[in-house]
Amino acid sequence: MTNDRLQRVFTEIDNRRDQLIADLQSLVRIPSVTGDEGAVQDQVQSLFETRNLQIDRWETSREDILPYMEHVGDQPSYEGRPNVVGTLAGAGNGRSIMLNGHIDVVDPGDASFWKHGPWSGAVEGDLLYGRGSCDMKGGMATFLLAIDALNAAGIKLAGEVKIAATVGEEDGGFGSLGTILRGHRADGVVISEPTRLAIVAAQAGSLVARITVTGKSAHGAMRDEGVSAVEKFIPIFQDLQRWEAERNASLDHPLFADAANKIPISFGKVRSGEWHSTVPETLIAEGRIGLLPGEDMHEFQEAVRQRVLNAAKQDFWLSQHPPDVEFFSGQFAPGETRPDEPLPTALASAHQQVTGQAPIVTGITAGTDMRLYTEIGNMPCIIYGAGDVSVAHQNDEHISISDIQTAAKTIATLLIDWCGVTD
Ligand SMILES: [Zn+2]
Repeated sequence: MTNDRLQRVFTEIDNRRDQLIADLQSLVRIPSVTGDEGAVQDQVQSLFETRNLQIDRWETSREDILPYMEHVGDQPSYEGRPNVVGTLAGAGNGRSIMLNGHIDVVDPGDASFWKHGPWSGAVEGDLLYGRGSCDMKGGMATFLLAIDALNAAGIKLAGEVKIAATVGEEDGGFGSLGTILRGHRADGVVISEPTRLAIVAAQAGSLVARITVTGKSAHGAMRDEGVSAVEKFIPIFQDLQRWEAERNASLDHPLFADAANKIPISFGKVRSGEWHSTVPETLIAEGRIGLLPGEDMHEFQEAVRQRVLNAAKQDFWLSQHPPDVEFFSGQFAPGETRPDEPLPTALASAHQQVTGQAPIVTGITAGTDMRLYTEIGNMPCIIYGAGDVSVAHQNDEHISISDIQTAAKTIATLLIDWCGVTD
């Protein structure tokens, strides 16, 4: 590939700012809160068809995912939530690639807190606003822009390219799981979640756990005759905090060296008690417990259970009434693609060619669909995209249009290198 041809692709991307904005607005303006993705997928399909991509559109059923239920959790609904995969056939025998973007978004909350409406797609200078602009309809627009520029520059890729627009990522990832189970395969997967153009080659996992502590009820005026489940939860909670600190000190993973807390333990929901003047006899705490790539999810579940039971043994009441530990909802396994594997290496080289700088290569503590592609699909997978995740899930979510163009240049360069080109 001559620099001249690459330059033509970059010029096409620079010249397509208006088209990029129109495509991204068309996606942002259709609400697609997790569970209600049907309407936006009509628009995705139309954008794919305009590019002559071959369409596969289907709904993943509960029966399909049943054997893998623990990874994504049971869904509140399965109907009207199609995945859409658009395929661009390869013109030769190059390596294939799948470009993945989830099309669902989180609820925007109270629209009056947004300076533009959450579904506005308003443009101010270099920024495009709206729920999903950053997380991650901007990623989908990145892929479309890269494909458009390659087409316009007359470049025919040798390997097959799939663009997968998937549902349900924000609630466990059953859309990406369904895409894998449907049989969509590639020699590598790139997810354009917002990473500020860093290469994310590893994601930590998180177990969703429920701890039930049993006490003994009594009238509050005679509390010493009862056993407060709240008081009995406190030593367990404190022991888990100590464990978090110990694990942070002892766990060593190069891609998480910069994380202040690599494996957060956090309880988001704690319920106890029936009445202000009754000693509470039950406490139910639900939270997430982090784990790193290299740690086995099922072994770690057992380690969590043992840690809680050991803490309980230090207390006479709890040793006689051990807490119950269960794991529910989607369990996020950790996932990883080694940075020296071909896909991250090729992406790093593409980023360097576009920006003149070596990319940051790192890991993230949040769960993404990456783990489904690496752990269940057995495909190398990395995350790379424009946008800053710290504005995702926030009011006034936005993304930089010029950063999308930079990401699209990197993706186009990667496609040329990875898939090869036929003359
Ligand atoms: Zn996302």
